[in-house]
Amino acid sequence: MRIGIIGAGQLGQMLGFAARKLDVECRFLDPSISPPAGVCGDVIQRPFDDPKALAKLAASCDVISYEFENVPVGALQEIAGTVPIYPPLDALRQAQDRLDEKRLFEQLGIPLPGYRAIDTRDDMVAAAEALGLPMVVKTRRLGYDGKGQFLVKTSADVDKAWKTLGAQALIAEQWVPFDYEVSSIGVRNVDGDVHIYALSHNVHKDGILHSSRSPVDAPELAEKAAGYVRRLLDHLDYVGVLALELFVRGDDLLANEFAPRVHNSGHWTIEGAATSQFENHLRAIMNLPLGSTASRGHAGMINLIGEIPAAARGLEAGHLHDYGKAPRAGRKLGHITVVAATADDRDALLDKIDTNVT
Ligand code: AMP
Repeated sequence: MRIGIIGAGQLGQMLGFAARKLDVECRFLDPSISPPAGVCGDVIQRPFDDPKALAKLAASCDVISYEFENVPVGALQEIAGTVPIYPPLDALRQAQDRLDEKRLFEQLGIPLPGYRAIDTRDDMVAAAEALGLPMVVKTRRLGYDGKGQFLVKTSADVDKAWKTLGAQALIAEQWVPFDYEVSSIGVRNVDGDVHIYALSHNVHKDGILHSSRSPVDAPELAEKAAGYVRRLLDHLDYVGVLALELFVRGDDLLANEFAPRVHNSGHWTIEGAATSQFENHLRAIMNLPLGSTASRGHAGMINLIGEIPAAARGLEAGHLHDYGKAPRAGRKLGHITVVAATADDRDALLDKIDTNVT
């Protein structure tokens, strides 16, 4: 069995490590030189939408998957008849467009912040009136880690937002004064079996994930979030891992977005769950029985962004994952995971690492 993965970044690398455990070979497609996943499989070094490279990948693999959601769907459609591609392209297409994504949440009865589609400056003015301020304006496509976003605080910001982002299709969303953010990660295999991981509490800094802690001591919220993930997985006839990010406000959950792939907020599952999200993604797309998603304790994860400080290499407690990427401001270079018997012990370990390392 050989699995073709489009993208050879750190998510590809962690999929590649999980594949070794299952005695499965991975082959990657990525235009970069020496990408992280190069240590665990052959890399076809071509653009993601190169038809010949995609055809080569399809012809040499039993199933194709991807590690990031901006893969051009049209290019994948060219090979879709020749090899199974999971997660399904319809899920990928809807996740690529924030407007389609929000309409899908509405259709499935998943609560979300108020929003408006914006194509003109007048639409933006009307959105500010309808939603109230502050509101956040986002590009419909190709946004990630808070990029392509503009916070409109006063009506004077409307012009600035329009000048900054107005060349593209946009949406505006109500700004949610959330208590905290969570993600629920689920996995579904070809046979339709579904498993869901414990909820993660996520902290973002400058739009980039900083840390995750799981489980969250809020069983009712966890059950509600798991129900939403299950709805998405079943509706999309989904195969693989899916992550749903939500805002928590009191007893309410509001969906922000979903990612049709393994997710940074699930990195704790490598040490902190019976089966990691990476292994379960592979199991799902190969239609193997899914592994248990039960937590092994109280897990936490801190991202290492921009550099891997020397202190990260001599930790008393904690697992360092170094993706082998060149340092650069704002770049995810690695992460540290801790697992403890209690939430208090986990928090103490994580806080110490946060103070001494990041
Ligand atoms: P996104 O790229 O949409 O996931 O946004 C990145 C981060 O910006 C989120 O994880 C939140 O911390 C924040 N954010 C995005 N949209 C909103 C919103 N409507 N209200 C409050 N915070 C938001």
